[in-house]
Amino acid sequence: MKNDIDRDLYEILGVDRSASLSEIKSSYRDKARRCHPDVSHHDPDSERKFKELTFAYEVLSDQDKRNSYDRWGLDSLRTGAGVDFDGFSSISDLFDMFFGGGFADPFGRRRQRSSPSRGRDMETAVSITLGEVARGVDKDIEMRKKVTCDGCDGTGLLPGTHTSRCGTCGGSGQVRSTQRSMFGTFIRAGACPDCGGAGEVVREPCRQCDGAGLAWRTECLKVKVPPGVEDGDTIRLRGKGEGGARGARAGDLYVRINVEPHDVFSRQGRNLHTTVTIGMAEAALGTELELPSLDGGFKLKVPSGTQPGDVLKEKGNGVPPRYGGRRGDILISVDVSIPKKLSTREKELLSSFAAMRNGKAGE
Ligand SMILES: [Zn+2]
Ligand SMILES: [Zn+2]
Repeated sequence: MKNDIDRDLYEILGVDRSASLSEIKSSYRDKARRCHPDVSHHDPDSERKFKELTFAYEVLSDQDKRNSYDRWGLDSLRTGAGVDFDGFSSISDLFDMFFGGGFADPFGRRRQRSSPSRGRDMETAVSITLGEVARGVDKDIEMRKKVTCDGCDGTGLLPGTHTSRCGTCGGSGQVRSTQRSMFGTFIRAGACPDCGGAGEVVREPCRQCDGAGLAWRTECLKVKVPPGVEDGDTIRLRGKGEGGARGARAGDLYVRINVEPHDVFSRQGRNLHTTVTIGMAEAALGTELELPSLDGGFKLKVPSGTQPGDVLKEKGNGVPPRYGGRRGDILISVDVSIPKKLSTREKELLSSFAAMRNGKAGE
């Protein structure tokens, strides 16, 4: 899929990124009229162009898909947003999905009976703390989903019965219809409405699932979150989405990881950042501080002569990189505060200190 469309969808439609829905519609109509395969038989490329155009239109005319495309690009449409590219071997299958069937004659394509489609992919999200990022964590999730019916093993048949040939399509799984559209009249082949393209129908349905082959169930799953994940990462659990009917494999479950913000640390790759404020005397003389870490706490030695903005390092207390490895460090920016109010005694001491330094700055 990635290689099939490498142009920007807005460019394909010839509109700019701020185009309104009506601009998108009218541009689609204009361009589609010119390259519709029923119109431009002379151009062998017209099918591809038309599909590309229609795909761009399908995405950009749907606010959810458009947002998703704007933010994350074409890849984001692989899952969620109601589009699943996974089961499609080519872009033509993809467009057939949008059209609910292929264009019958212009390309002389032979259509096959549709095979059982695999279960739908599902999405969910889990939140983890920065501490869990450091160590990795197993999270339990509960999913309400359709799974293969155990009464019929997903066949939809009452045990001991068989399917029979669909009378509507004569077993081909396809019906043809003449359709009028804004491009004119053309013939469309679509999946048979009675058998859903299977060519066969269930006469005596399984009583447990009413012939669907799928039944609702709540399932508890464990998702292993490896150390080092980033906020927004997605973990794919193969076969943990919706069950497939009629022997098809189950869909996948995509688990989005949300890393909760931390009170003390911000994360930059493997390193954690924080800021501490010390007094000017501590900065000059040096001090030791007790600081929190993801694993408890540590003592930080602030050397004498520390300057405002100096960054101190606590090695190995950060987080590991995404694909495993050594943990990064905690980087501590030091801020030095100058007292705003001084007592008489403090003023005297500082004055004599200043006199002693005789105008010498940080030496
Ligand atoms: Zn069943
Ligand atoms: Zn049929």
